Order: sequence, then structure tokens, then C-alpha cells
Amino acid sequence: MRDTLKHQGLRNKLVQNLIKKSITDKNVLKAIAKIPRHLLLDSAFEYHAYQDKAFPIAAGQTISQPYTVAFQTQLLQIKPGDKVLEIGTGSGYQAAILNVMGAEVYTIERIKELYLTAKQNLEKIGIRLKHMAYGDGYKGLPLYAPYDKIIVTAAAPYVPEALVTQLKSGGRLVIPVGDDLQEMKLLIKDENEQIIESSHGTFVFVPMLQNKD
Ligand code: SAH
Repeated sequence: MRDTLKHQGLRNKLVQNLIKKSITDKNVLKAIAKIPRHLLLDSAFEYHAYQDKAFPIAAGQTISQPYTVAFQTQLLQIKPGDKVLEIGTGSGYQAAILNVMGAEVYTIERIKELYLTAKQNLEKIGIRLKHMAYGDGYKGLPLYAPYDKIIVTAAAPYVPEALVTQLKSGGRLVIPVGDDLQEMKLLIKDENEQIIESSHGTFVFVPMLQNKD
């Protein structure tokens, strides 16, 4: 598969759709217009890639809906040079968006098969992340901590303590918390290391898996 003008046209339409759904961060919209999402999906979904929908990837997992990716990224307030940790690499789409926005991206995936295909697919579209890890997101990635921003892209039953610890002061953590439905939580660590928490609507994610195989 290639990236063509037709795909670019579909991406521009998707951006217009996200603006209607009140995504306002111009840098997020520019990133969505840039990343060839269809090249990160199974080829069967080539022409579905730019609908605002979640789609299956391997191992029973999903690539998040573009609106959800845009919404979480907007909450993070990404600036070029931000050091960002992502939990749940999946297809690599969210990581690619953060990368083209100028973030230094560290990402963790718990399923080996997905970790390997995301690596290959990102390479194919010319994206090289700072670090891709195969491991357990509940533990974060202490080796490279602290992070300016942390994003969790699977449904967490609670906010893992390790992630709060690995956040810089002034940093932002965006995480969907809950069982069947999740509440999108934003945790900001202030200068005194106090956590300020707010809620930003209801979403549905695949569950964050507990134990590494
Ligand atoms: N950010 C992804 C969304 C993938 S869905 C994208 O843009 O495509 C959530 C992903 O989280 C799945 O790939 C799943 O395997 C992974 N995941 C689930 N539990 C995890 C854990 N404990 N640690 C790391 N990744 C996990």
C-alpha cells in the first residue's frame, strides 16, 4: 500500500470532522492530517482508515478512534521537545501523532506481536520513536523517568502509582479509568508535587492487562 492524494483528501475530511466535534488544538489537527493511518491498519481497512472509528488490529486489540486520539492528545497540551510516555503502543498511531508534534516518545506494549508489528509499521512510514519497550505499563518506564506527559491508551482499573511517580512536576497524565465505561481523567502534578485531578467525559477502551505473560 502507498500513501496517495486520495488518502490525503480523506485525511483532510477527517480533520474537518474532528473540528466539528470540537477538537481545537491546531498542532493536533496538523498531525492527524499528516499521519497515513491506513498504513498502520490491516490492508482490509484501507478505505475505512479515515472514518472516525476504532478498528481491530492483531491480538484482539484496537487502534483508537481518531477523535479519542485527538482528544487525549489535546488534553496533554504537547509542546515540541516534551518527553512523553505512552502506555499501549497498539498500532503505533497515537505514538506517530505525538512524534510528528515534536515530542520525544517512549512507548510500552504488553503484547509481543503488537510490539513487533508497530515497530515495523512505524519504520515503514519513516517514524523513529525515542524508545519502544515490550513490557508492563503498570510499572511505567522508570529508566527514562521523569516525563513531561504520560498517556494511557487502555482502560485502567485505577491510576497506577508508578505513573504518578514518573511524572515531572508541572507534568500531565491522561488516563481512562473504569471497567465497562471509562472516565477520561487528567492529573496535573503541580510545583509542590500535589495532584490536581479533573474528569473529561466517558470513553470505551480495551482493558489494560494486569500481568505480563
Ligand atoms: N495507542 C494505540 C491504542 C491501542 S489499544 C494505538 O494508537 O493504536 C491499547 C493497547 O494497550 C493494546 O495494544 C494492548 O495490548 C495494550 N496494553 C494492554 N495492557 C497493557 C499493559 N499493561 N501495558 C502495556 N500495554 C498494554
